[in-house]
Amino acid sequence: MTHIKLLTAERSSLSGMDYYICPMHSDVRQPGAGKCPKCGMDLLLQGTRFALVRHMASSPLHLIVMVAAMLAVMAAAMMMLR
Ligand SMILES: [Zn+2]
Repeated sequence: MTHIKLLTAERSSLSGMDYYICPMHSDVRQPGAGKCPKCGMDLLLQGTRFALVRHMASSPLHLIVMVAAMLAVMAAAMMMLR
């Protein structure tokens, strides 16, 4: 699973100021792993979500898919205008 490997690499490259956040409540953050006091979900290391976004943007395959989707939407819009 390359995704997990990349995320792990991103994580270990983060130094200092590590803290954990709830995926659902951005105001919930604490210095160690644990559960969200509001919803009970496992807290994620801060930066995980952004690492995923960065990974999506850095992957050529994902970019191709995004561009193809944009072109399809534009082509559909052009056809509707005619
Ligand atoms: Zn929560």
